[in-house]
Amino acid sequence: MLEIEEIELRYGAVKAVRDVSLRVEQGELVTLLGANGAGKSSTLKSIAGVLKPARGTIRLDGRDISGLTPEQLVRRGVAMVPETRDVFPDLTVEENLQLGAFCRRRDTRGVAASQERMFELFPLLAERIRQPAGTLSGGQQQQLVIARAMMSDPRLLLLDEPSLGLAPVIVDRIFEMILELRQSGVTILLVEQNASKALKISDRSYVLSLGRVATSGASADIAAGSDLKSIYLG
Ligand code: ATP
Repeated sequence: MLEIEEIELRYGAVKAVRDVSLRVEQGELVTLLGANGAGKSSTLKSIAGVLKPARGTIRLDGRDISGLTPEQLVRRGVAMVPETRDVFPDLTVEENLQLGAFCRRRDTRGVAASQERMFELFPLLAERIRQPAGTLSGGQQQQLVIARAMMSDPRLLLLDEPSLGLAPVIVDRIFEMILELRQSGVTILLVEQNASKALKISDRSYVLSLGRVATSGASADIAAGSDLKSIYLG
């Protein structure tokens, strides 16, 4: 479904990603691991159209998508949940969800069905439908931003550090929800600091180090390997 070939990503003179190639097959749950600054978030941003590659190609279903805008990518089925977890605090839970469906305005039935599905998956949001999003806890806001991304009915969901700063029980719940989303047929590329948990739930993983792929393979093999610690510690 997704094929990245030898991309380089820059912020001006700063090279965030030097040379990353990776692929995600339809229906897979793939994790991007690596220390702070390894280039994980930048890689996700490039897939979502937020950051244009200076070199290399990004293909979705065989087509080059590297020049497309974030909005064009949403229309092609790519949704991203950034690590900033930004809800619109003064809007209600429902209004936040509706904004996620901005590109499906004419599909009122489809949007209603998606919202129904999200309320089944995140019952807590259903209970707080008329509450301003700013009054939700961190874990609830994380559920809201995931549900909002899902309102565009994506085929590929990009999740950037969904467990960041959350209490352990909440983290477990978020990971369960990611698995449920995957079971519903969404392909997922997940960036995580919580390596052991991410390796447990994913099919395959890529470990980035200093803007390159240091190692990749089946998550079970990477979890069993001894090189993970050394990659994190440099
Ligand atoms: P983290 O977990 O800390 O987000 P990461 O693996 O996601 O790490 P990136 O955020 O992709 O890494 O950052 C890769 C490199 O690019 C780092 O050296 C970082 O300092 C740099 N970088 C990231 N965003 C910017 C920016 N907006 N401007 C300049 N440099 C940036």
